[in-house]
Amino acid sequence: MKPESHLFYQTRSRRPVLAEARGVYMWDVDGKRYLDGSSGAMVSNIGHSNPRVIDAMRRQMEKSTFGYRLHFETEPSEKLAAKVASLSPSGMEKVFFVSGGSEAVESAIKLARQYAVTVGQGSRWKVISRDPSYHGSTLGALALTGYAPLSDPFMPMMQAMPKIPAPRAYLDGLDINDPATGQHYAEMLEAKILEEGADSVLAFIVEPIGGASTGALVPPAGYMRAVREICDRYGVLLIHDEVMSGGGRTGRFMGAEHFGVEPDIIAISKGFGAGYAPLGAMIAHDRLVDPVLDAGGFLHGHTYAGNPLACAAGLAVIEEIESGGLMQNASRMGGVLKSRLQNLMQRFSFIGDVRGEGLLLAFELVSDRQSMQPLPRALNAYNELVELAYAEGLIIYSRRTRGGLEGDHFLVCPPMIISEAQVDEIIEMLTNALTKFAVKAGLAVET
Ligand code: PMP
Repeated sequence: MKPESHLFYQTRSRRPVLAEARGVYMWDVDGKRYLDGSSGAMVSNIGHSNPRVIDAMRRQMEKSTFGYRLHFETEPSEKLAAKVASLSPSGMEKVFFVSGGSEAVESAIKLARQYAVTVGQGSRWKVISRDPSYHGSTLGALALTGYAPLSDPFMPMMQAMPKIPAPRAYLDGLDINDPATGQHYAEMLEAKILEEGADSVLAFIVEPIGGASTGALVPPAGYMRAVREICDRYGVLLIHDEVMSGGGRTGRFMGAEHFGVEPDIIAISKGFGAGYAPLGAMIAHDRLVDPVLDAGGFLHGHTYAGNPLACAAGLAVIEEIESGGLMQNASRMGGVLKSRLQNLMQRFSFIGDVRGEGLLLAFELVSDRQSMQPLPRALNAYNELVELAYAEGLIIYSRRTRGGLEGDHFLVCPPMIISEAQVDEIIEMLTNALTKFAVKAGLAVET
C-alpha cells in the first residue's frame, strides 16, 4: 500500500508512478511498460519525448520562458498564431492563446457575447449545446457540457443553457449515411432556436467529431452543413469545439474539414500542445474580433496566455506533424485500427458499435447488438475493462455513458506516429482484456 499522498484529483484511486515515456510507450518506476493507446486523454498526438519538440523548448528556455502579454510580444507566439491562422478556414485570422480546453471554450463564448453586445445585439446570450457533450469543467464551459452527473451539483451557481440531443443515429436505428438523418437531427437545433426565441440565442457549440462524451461520434451525412445553414438563418454564431478533434488526429488539422463546413469560432487544445506544454487557442473570424477590438478591447485574458515556452512547443508539434506526414499516418493507421476493432465484433458479440475518424476511434459495449441495451451497471464494464487492459500493458480511455444514456464506451486513440505492428500489439492486448472481461462477466466469446 502506498502512503497517503498530498496530491488529489477526482478520487482516492492511486496509479503507478511514471518513470519515462518515449514514442507510444510509457514505463512506470517498477519497469512495467504500457502502450499509450489513448494518448493520455487524447493529448500526446505525436508521442512522447519527441526530440524536435524537446530541442525547440530547450532553445526557447535558454532565451526566455515568460513575457507578460501586456509588456512584450514574443516570437514563438507570433509565429504560432500565424501558423494556426494558416491552418484555419480563410478569414479566421485572429488567434487568442490560452492554457487548456476549458479556457479555450470560455474565451469563445465570451468573445461571441462581447461581439453581440458591440454590434447592438445585446439580447443574445444563450449558447445552445448538445446532450451529451463535453466542453470543459470551469463553470462557463460546464454550463454547456451536456452530462448531468458532472453539472448537476453546480447548477445553482451557473446559468442553465439550452440543449439539443446529439445525433446518435446508431442508437436511434437511423442510417448515418442518409442525408435525411442529418437533416432530422439538425432540425432539432432550429426547433430549439425558435423555442428559445431567435433573438435571445447567441451561439451553438458543437464537437465536429465527438470526444469523450459521445465516444468519437461522427455526425450523420449533411448534419454539419445543415447546422451551419440554420445558424446563418437565425444570426446564431457557430462555435466548433475542436479541443479533441483538432490538431490532426482525425487525419485533417480540424475535424470539421471532413464536412467542408466553416465555423465562426474554433476552440482547440489537447493535441495542440500534445502534452509538451499546457496550450490551447481560440481562433476567430476577423469579422467578430475587429469590432470588439475597435470598441475598446476584449474583456478577457489569462496570465499564462501566449507563454513563449508553450508556443515554442506548439510550433514544433505542428512542424513535426507536417514534416513527418503524421496526419496521413493517422488516416492510414486509423483505417487499419478501425477495421481490426470491427473484426473484434465477430468474436465479442457484446461490442455494440465501432466508430470514429482517423485515430479518434471508439467502441462501446452492449448486452445485445439487436436491442443495443447496455450491459448491467453492476458489471462496471467501463472500469473493469480499462483495468484489465492496463494490467496487460495497454492504456485506453472510458466513460460510463453511451451517447448520454446508460452504458459504457471506450476510446482507442494512440499517438499519430503509431505503426501497423503497434496497432497489432494494441489489438492483441485488447483481445486478452476483452476475453478476461467476458469470462468474469459471464459473456459469450466466439473462438
Ligand atoms: N472540450 C472538449 C471537446 C474536450 O474533450 C475537453 C477535454 N476533455 C475540453 C473541452 C476541456 O479541456 P480541458 O480539460 O483542457 O480544460
